[in-house]
Order: sequence, then structure tokens, then C-alpha cells
Amino acid sequence: MKLLEDKIKSEGIVLPNNVLKVDGFLNHQVDAQLMFEIGKEFGRLFKKQNVTKILTVESSGIAPAVMTGLAMDVPVVFARKHKSLTLTDDLYTASVYSYTKQTSNQISISKRFIDEEDRVLIIDDFLANGQAISGLLDIADAANIDVVGVGIVIEKTFQKGSQIIKDRDIQLESLARIKALTDDGQVEFE
Ligand code: 5GP
Repeated sequence: MKLLEDKIKSEGIVLPNNVLKVDGFLNHQVDAQLMFEIGKEFGRLFKKQNVTKILTVESSGIAPAVMTGLAMDVPVVFARKHKSLTLTDDLYTASVYSYTKQTSNQISISKRFIDEEDRVLIIDDFLANGQAISGLLDIADAANIDVVGVGIVIEKTFQKGSQIIKDRDIQLESLARIKALTDDGQVEFE
């Protein structure tokens, strides 16, 4: 998606450890117009999948997920992050290791908001090693629901996250695909 690539080129900052900082439009301040375009693009790409619900993880997945929900006219559920959980009976939970924060979090979704009949589209801001997506897939498995697509705003294709999705034959669409973050701070797209 050209608009997104241009935004990454002009505002993205390459940090150590292969992290791209995009807090000017995605991870802290949010460019609502860009998110609107992203939502419409995911809506177009997954049109044939008859999606009934969108799943994401708080907090940075919420903006693109909500815009996709708007474009597809379906509800959006975000998994919540908890350090520890006591009452888990009414929750689906999974453990997710965070690439950027280097800590593990429990993520959870209330059983009230997913249903066996749902056809779910997962949306997230980044795909790196696939931990966040893996956690959401674990929850989908526990809930016995079909994941019909994964939509990623920025994929770092030099990391291995996409394999988990391809192994399961799930449609994967990434709007910006980065093949390298260079030592001198450049972003190289596929
Ligand atoms: P994964 O679980 O695929 O390893 O990483 C995905 C999650 O880690 C994303 O939801 C995002 O929050 C965070 N993340 C991974 N790589 C980056 C990055 O280069 N920049 C930013 N801002 N977040 C990242």
C-alpha cells in the first residue's frame, strides 16, 4: 500500500534490534485518515471470506481493526493483556511473548464475545516472530472457531512470523512488507 509505505519512509525510525518505531501514526499518535484507508483496503482484500468478526490485541491493533470492522460492518473484539489472572472460567486465554517489550503477557478474550459459528479475521499492527498471532490462533482453537484471514499493517518479512500462518493455509495480507532495516536507518521494502 503506497500511502503506508510513504508514511513509513517519512516518519518511521529504525531502532536497534530490528525494531521500527512508528509511534507518530500507529503506535501512540494515530493517523485516523490512514487507518481509514487501511480498514478499507483490508475490507477489499478479505471481501470473499464472509468475515463475521474481527479479533486483535490491545492496544496497537485496535485502530486498524476498528477501521476494518467499519469497512466490513462486523464487530471487533480485542484481546486484553493481563499480568495475572484469577478468575479465568469465562475467558479464553493464551500466553504471548512480546518482541519489543521482552516480557510475557497473558492475553484473554471473554467467551461471551466469540461464537463457534464465527468466521474470524485477525488484524494486528506488526508481524515479527508471530507470537501475538500465535496467541490469537490458540484462543481461536480453544473456542473452536475458523480463522479465515490475517491482516497485518507492517510485516517484517526477514522475521519468521508468516510461517505460522502459511502452515495453516490461512490467507495472509500485509499492507507493507519490509525486507530489511539497515544499520544506517533505512527501511527496505519487498
Ligand atoms: P510478534 O508477536 O509477531 O513477534 O510481534 C508482534 C507484536 O510485537 C506487534 O503486535 C507489535 O506490538 C510488536 N512489534 C514487533 N515488531 C515491532 C517493530 O518493529 N516495531 C513496533 N513498533 N512494534 C513491533
